[in-house]
Amino acid sequence: MLTISPIAAFSDNYIWHLQRDEQDWVVDPGDAGPVSTALEERKLDGILITHHHWDHTGGIAELAAKYHCPVYGPGSVEGVTHPLAAGDRCEVLGFPVSVMDVPGHTLDHLALLLRENDGRVEQNHLFCGDTLFAAGCGRLFEGTPAQMYSSLAKLSALPPETRVYCAHEYTLANLRFAAAAEPGNQAVRNRLAQVEALRASGKTTLPSTIGEELATNPFLRCHIPALARQAANHGATENSDEVEVFAYLRRWKDNF
Ligand SMILES: [Zn+2]
Repeated sequence: MLTISPIAAFSDNYIWHLQRDEQDWVVDPGDAGPVSTALEERKLDGILITHHHWDHTGGIAELAAKYHCPVYGPGSVEGVTHPLAAGDRCEVLGFPVSVMDVPGHTLDHLALLLRENDGRVEQNHLFCGDTLFAAGCGRLFEGTPAQMYSSLAKLSALPPETRVYCAHEYTLANLRFAAAAEPGNQAVRNRLAQVEALRASGKTTLPSTIGEELATNPFLRCHIPALARQAANHGATENSDEVEVFAYLRRWKDNF
């Protein structure tokens, strides 16, 4: 059986810990310390990396030296032993992982889709780093709005039951923005109440699902007229296309 659990790091990062049959992998270990603590006496069998930012890669050197494990990720990242690119497939814990390129937050950003299928369970698990967040998306540090919008479109086309493992606990702040951007969306209000309760008791709000994101994430809903109208109050025009609506929503969120 596959279990996936968050290891908290820094102030709001999650390093996702995948376990199956005494084997352990982690995604985006920005810090080695919390990973070693979570592993206790077990060893690490592999590392997956989504993009080059230090809070996702800072633990690679120490973990790879300690556990002699392979590191799969963008070839631009120091310490990667198995470079991945769009369309590649690899195997993690006996399950196939397909690789998508999702530039925007960074240009080297990858999203990794693990298909769990052991005869009893059929479930997709998406590790999307800082591209898609619960009710939000990553800042545009390197890519253009058009690149990010097309990356988010790829992810939102995955089956709605796909579980979404983001790399930060940003859900509450994102939903407060979503409620401002689309005040008439009841699903956003319901999710905000759920997430406020989870955070008040110190619980994680992840994983999300693609279905939940389609219903509540303003950055996946730029085609909705109510959101386009709100974007028009923040720099877009009535004639703006979806990419422009996205760009102005993202800029508004940067200063929210
Ligand atoms: Zn990042």
